[in-house]
Formats: sequence, structure tokens, C-alpha cells
Amino acid sequence: MIKRRLRFGAFLIAVSVIMLGVARLLSHEKMYRMTSGEYIKWVDFDVTAEAMNDALNISLDAYKKGYDADFVKLLSYLGAKYGGDFRHYKKKDLTDIYDKIKNGEKLDTIGAKYNYYPYYLEAYGAVLSEYVGEFYIDGKQYYGLRAFSPIAKGYYYNHSDDFGASRSYGYNRKHLGHDLMGSVGTPVIAIESGYVEALGWNQYGGWRIGIRSFDNKRYYYYAHLRKDHPYVSDLKEGDMVNAGQVIGYLGMTGYSAKENVNNIKTPHLHFGIQLIFDPSQKDGYNQIWIDCYELTKFLSQNRMGVVVSTDGKDRVAEKDVIIYDMPD
Ligand SMILES: [Zn+2]
Repeated sequence: MIKRRLRFGAFLIAVSVIMLGVARLLSHEKMYRMTSGEYIKWVDFDVTAEAMNDALNISLDAYKKGYDADFVKLLSYLGAKYGGDFRHYKKKDLTDIYDKIKNGEKLDTIGAKYNYYPYYLEAYGAVLSEYVGEFYIDGKQYYGLRAFSPIAKGYYYNHSDDFGASRSYGYNRKHLGHDLMGSVGTPVIAIESGYVEALGWNQYGGWRIGIRSFDNKRYYYYAHLRKDHPYVSDLKEGDMVNAGQVIGYLGMTGYSAKENVNNIKTPHLHFGIQLIFDPSQKDGYNQIWIDCYELTKFLSQNRMGVVVSTDGKDRVAEKDVIIYDMPD
């Protein structure tokens, strides 16, 4: 009897596994239809900090030794292999690929055996393509991670995976970003370079800054900035900001139609990353916002230190990071 029940249990498990597999294939199929001949309509960014770290280390080693093991391509290969589900991640999958590359195989050729490799290349590339590369500090050239944690070095914060949680203020909304709890006045750092596209009061975000990456594919939204002194002096729409630059200060403004009001209970930085493959996705119902929790963990290894500005009114980055592949 017990044996039979066990057998039935095993049968149920097998059926569930098959059904999960079918579901995954269907979601692949959906993504494929969404991408064929048109721009990408949706991205689940579930790459873990661990996988990003391992891919970063391999890409840095490859850069030194002259192999072609690009950071985004490595992760896109994994994305295609796992169907985007990084709970399957094993470091060995990366080191195996790196061994093949060292033996003369091309990452694109290895990836090509997966139908969805091009999708992941474009989807993950839209998130990460500018994060690793060359940069200069005081005229000296470096290669590595050139995107930053949004929280300055030496300042405390805590966070949890809060993407998609529901929000009560205003209409019923999902949380399309990530909250970093810290103290009021903590300098907020630009994760990536770009142009200030929006700056000012928004009834949800309070004092907020929107920065668009130079390739136009990412829109960074930093919200609930400090009452009275939300931004570094003179920052305005249209300005160019550098990755690692101080842009403003953590606060608790927002949830108010009236300007400069602290109506957020816990001081925190809300930041979000929106992906834009087509201009129609910037506003309205087709927006793509990604889960930034694992990305934030990954970026926590690169936190910018700050010093007091010469006029004493602001905090500024202790060093300027210059990235040359900027637009004219
Ligand atoms: Zn938030």
C-alpha cells in the first residue's frame, strides 16, 4: 500500500515536472512571438548577483588574457540555457563555457545552439551592456565594472526583494522598483551615466530624478529625495551625469500632491530601471520595469566614496570616473 502510494507520488511529481516544462516552453514561445520581427515586449530580469559576479570575474580574466568572453554574452548564454530561470545556476556552467572559449570556440557559436540566445542577448544587453568596460580615473585606464551602487560608500542601508509588492497610495499599483532604507541625507549616486530627463516633484515619487542612458534603452528613476535639498546644486533637466556622480540625497518626500512634503514613513531611496526598446514603451501601459534586487547586490561591490564640496553645500564623488564611449 505504502509502496503504491509512493509510486503514485512519484507519478504525480513526474506529471508536475512535465507540466512545468511545457509551461516554460510556452513562455519561451510567447517571448519568441513577442520578439520575432518586432521589438521586445517583456523582460524578466532574474539573473542573480552570484551569476553576475562569476561572469564579471571570467570576463575580466578573459580581457587580460585576450579571450572573447564578454560579460553580457556569458549571462545571455546562461539565460538561454536556463530559460531565464537562474535558480538553475551552477558556476560550472560558466567555467565549462570559458574552457571551451580557451580552446578556441566562439561564445556566439556556442550560444547559437539555443533558439533564444538572441533574445537574451538583446534583453540582458539592454540592462547590462554598459556596465562593464573601459573607464578612466585621473587619466589612467581601467577595465571592469563601471556602474555603481546608488548608495554612497560608508552609508548604511538595508533592503529586501520587494519587486511587485502592492502599494496603497493612489490607485492600486505594483511596486515597480527597489527600496533601499537608509538615513535622510545619504548621498545618492548615479548608477550609470546619462542625461537628466526628468527632475522635480511627482506626487508619488516626491522629489525625483529620471536619468536616461546614452543608448536610450534604460531610464533610471530615483525617488523620495530629501525635503528642501533633494538634488546636488544646479542639477537640471538636460544635464549630463557621470556614473558614480552624486546626484541627490535620500529622503522621505512623496505621496502628496503638494510639493516638498515628507509623507513617506520610512526614509528610503526608491529606484527603478525601465527598459525601452521602442519609444512607445516609455509611458502608458507597455512599460517594462525590472527587478533590481539582485542587480543592487551585484553593484554593492562598487560604491563611490564622497567628500564635502568646495562650497560646503553638497557631497561630491571622491573621484571622477570618465567613460569615453559617450555620444557627442
Ligand atoms: Zn519603492
